Amino acid sequence: MDMKNGGESMPRPRIVIVGGGFGGLATAKALKNTPADVFLIDRNNHHLFQPLLYQVATSVLGPSQIGSPIRAILRSNKNTIVILGEVTGVDVEGKRVFVSDADRQGAPLEYDYLILATGATHSYFGHNEFEKYAPGLKNLAGAVTIRNRILQAFEQAEAEEDPARHRDLLTFVLVGAGPTGVEMSSAIAVLVRSTLKSEFRRIDPASARIVLVDAAPRVLGTFSEDLSRAAYNRLRKLGVEVRLGHSVDHIDAEGVVVAGERIPSKTVIWTAGVAPSLAGKWLNAETDHAGRVRVQSDLTVPGHPEIFVIGDTATLDHNGKPLPGVAQVAMQQGRYSGKLIHRRITGGAAPAPFSYFDKGNMAIVGKGFAVLQSGKIRVSGIAAWAAWAAVHLQFLAQSNLRVSVFLQWVWTFLTNHRGSRLIVNYAGSENQKAEADTIAKAAVSSK
Ligand SMILES: Cc1cc2nc3c(=O)[nH]c(=O)nc-3n(C[C@H](O)[C@H](O)[C@H](O)COP(=O)(O)OP(=O)(O)OC[C@H]3O[C@@H](n4cnc5c(N)ncnc54)[C@H](O)[C@@H]3O)c2cc1C
Repeated sequence: MDMKNGGESMPRPRIVIVGGGFGGLATAKALKNTPADVFLIDRNNHHLFQPLLYQVATSVLGPSQIGSPIRAILRSNKNTIVILGEVTGVDVEGKRVFVSDADRQGAPLEYDYLILATGATHSYFGHNEFEKYAPGLKNLAGAVTIRNRILQAFEQAEAEEDPARHRDLLTFVLVGAGPTGVEMSSAIAVLVRSTLKSEFRRIDPASARIVLVDAAPRVLGTFSEDLSRAAYNRLRKLGVEVRLGHSVDHIDAEGVVVAGERIPSKTVIWTAGVAPSLAGKWLNAETDHAGRVRVQSDLTVPGHPEIFVIGDTATLDHNGKPLPGVAQVAMQQGRYSGKLIHRRITGGAAPAPFSYFDKGNMAIVGKGFAVLQSGKIRVSGIAAWAAWAAVHLQFLAQSNLRVSVFLQWVWTFLTNHRGSRLIVNYAGSENQKAEADTIAKAAVSSK
């Protein structure tokens, strides 16, 4: 992979991108025609469209409708090698990252340019013990776990002879009233009041209690007050109980405690806080209070023009405020870092400092209703919902997903039927494992 330069063979620069999310993919695409060897490393083999994770958790879509294999997306990037592996550290002086996979631990990979686009995970605000009882929504495994729990609760309630237990089984508590909490709680409300309505005999799914809790004084705190109020009213109309102004004191197997009151529930879902990846620790770089790496206006780390940190794991001020952790920021930063590196390698002029173009914010609140805020434009209702649907379809990574998601949405809208209502226990139940064990032992002893 050398390139000729005036008759001399020059090694091509090596660019290592860590993370195949919104930021990392955008960088790789921007480097498509760069005379360099690009390595994109991700611990998953797929790019995940996180904004639709809640639809997997609430059975509207199946996992394969919001994830695409990274190597399929980058198949026409002839200069890019995709590696399935987990980066565990960076040797900043030696210019290498360490990659672990099923066969190798900490294998070094050298770079000339490094882009860290490792995103964020959810934060339990120092209460990691809550995680066991309140799974969060960050990846496909989490979404399927939540889907299993929601569907399982109805199955258990139907099988339960004692009606006194139905109430606990059919109470769903969501902690965090940002976009994810609002979207999830309204989607569960639609699920119980329409899709499941006529399928059970002993229980009435529509009687399910859905409680959305947040310490903040209003839902969708990053939106304007009027849109926040519109979303609140819509949630109430859908039958969601909204508890604001109090954080959750405690979560256990029996439910949550909010402002001293216990809400018994078998299904608690964590939709609050995010924590950035370990990129700041790997680089030993300056971070903000949350751990996001402080980058310069060209998205590099101070003192290291060859290291870029982008997306959810970086922080950069814009109009006096840190840029939000949204997909648009990550994509625009990915495109910018790719362009900057391309120009450096090809001898072009450096681009102007990174500047974010805010295309606006949206959140969906049940069927046929969303809120949209873009500059001075504020819209709520079905028009915002149509815009939400169009934008989300446009940003899905592959055209086959666009078609499949569009058809599923139309079908769900018209019939209230959901696409993926399977309870899938990938590990198998304890009874299944014991049965397999007994069969295996019987087979050995009969030989
Ligand atoms: C439930 C949910 C809903 C959201 N809804 C919206 C929305 O409606 N609109 C919006 O704009 N934004 C939304 N967001 C936020 C948006 O998804 C993020 O801002 C965006 O994904 C950030 O892009 P990124 O490239 O920084 O990180 P990500 O897209 O998270 O990608 C990070 C990638 O890095 C990989 N990775 C991490 N660590 C390692 C490692 N050590 N080694 C190898 N690979 C690693 C991960 O596997 C992942 O593929 C939502 C987020 C969530 C969780």
